[in-house]
Amino acid sequence: MNLPEKFSANLKNILGDTYGEFEKALGTDSPVSVRLNPAKPFKPSFPLGDAVPWASQGFYLENRPVFTLDPAFHAGAYYVQEASSMVIEHILKNHAPATRPLKVLDLCAAPGGKTTHLASLLSEDDLLVANEVIKSRVGILKENLLKWGFPNVIIVNQDPETFADLEGFFDIVLTDAPCSGEGMFRKTPEAVNEWSEENVLMCAARQKRILSAAAMLVAPGGLLIYSTCTYNATENQENAQWLTRTLDFEPVEIHTPEEWGVTNAHPGLQFFPHKTRGEGFYVAAFRNKSRDERYVKGKPNIPRLPRKQAELLSRWIRPGVYESFEYFLKNDGGIVAIKQSLLNETGSVLRALQKRSSGLEIGHFKGNDFIPSHALALSGIVSGSVQHVDLPERDALLYLKKEPFALPEHSNGWTLITYQNLGLGWAKIIGDRVNNYLPTEWRIRMKLEE
Ligand code: SAM
Repeated sequence: MNLPEKFSANLKNILGDTYGEFEKALGTDSPVSVRLNPAKPFKPSFPLGDAVPWASQGFYLENRPVFTLDPAFHAGAYYVQEASSMVIEHILKNHAPATRPLKVLDLCAAPGGKTTHLASLLSEDDLLVANEVIKSRVGILKENLLKWGFPNVIIVNQDPETFADLEGFFDIVLTDAPCSGEGMFRKTPEAVNEWSEENVLMCAARQKRILSAAAMLVAPGGLLIYSTCTYNATENQENAQWLTRTLDFEPVEIHTPEEWGVTNAHPGLQFFPHKTRGEGFYVAAFRNKSRDERYVKGKPNIPRLPRKQAELLSRWIRPGVYESFEYFLKNDGGIVAIKQSLLNETGSVLRALQKRSSGLEIGHFKGNDFIPSHALALSGIVSGSVQHVDLPERDALLYLKKEPFALPEHSNGWTLITYQNLGLGWAKIIGDRVNNYLPTEWRIRMKLEE
């Protein structure tokens, strides 16, 4: 790999004698790893290799399967994620505040690797807000989050500086900042061409702006996590130190077992590809020492769904889960399900932010008929009283391609199409006709092997 001279000089400075091993590691293939969705158990069609030491559901794969041709991938049974960045689990497990429900913000969220991970670490009564400022990246974030199926998530498309009405609201704020991407040189070699000293400085300045906005949003005693996929101290340690110098935050000491091979880069951790099986990654965590909490309060400012219609939904949503939600009606007729136990917290977020989703959108009514949404199909909360049809792999792929597939025994009506009992999407069956409700933009375009 042809590395920029100044980058190499800096890394030689950081690594000393071990620089040669680092450069050699950049010449090897990137490890492939996945993180399983604990809410969607399944039997993988590929062998799982070694466990990722710092992530309970993380596994390395010896070979890279064609993920697009695995229905379980489309059902959200796992996420393909580089291993080093799964270390946020270790930080949450050891340092998350004891507050319940936890209110968690992922401020730089797309495409959703860490958001889906956070979702798996939260309980079903916690609230997760996923923000992505770049509009064109919100679609993939939404797709990955719908597939993951965590119900209490609000997706936002705003600049971090516009969150001020939520000052002191979140117990955990993750700022996985846009960076110079040095740690991605092996996985995406194009990143090498974009590297320059000027870009490092530009990224460091932008990160300071994002961190200032992020810090305001952390509750007293709450946790701010800062991460990048780069190595240089200008973006990493210097920004982390700047944060504790200028704001009322103290660094959290993150201990890791020696055998993990993680390097201490005070006040954070650094992953190097010659020492851990993964890409370059930096992470640090800070606790808020201030007492300020000045966020907007109130219940969701959208009308409730009329009682009669809400009652009709009981056929669609699992008993027990159905009663745990309140149902609201958006202007466009979409129905949103919000956990009863999170009405105040969700209300604060909906009141404070403008460009955001409103919660779990489960469908809409057309007259007395309920039209279920794709999010509901993927949510894992569909009642057993709705017809489920489980397909073998090839038919599941045909469904995902929106092509004709063989239907096992069935009745007419709305049908949840599943693979290994995991929801893939809806079909409406009327006699010989099967209307496939998979969103067209989500369909698999890849050709299937004969
Ligand atoms: N957390 C994501 C994951 O694990 O999949 C990766 C996030 S990526 C490192 C950084 C994100 O920050 C990108 O999605 C980028 O669009 C977004 N971003 C770019 N400029 C930003 C800004 N000024 N404020 C906040 N986010 C920004």
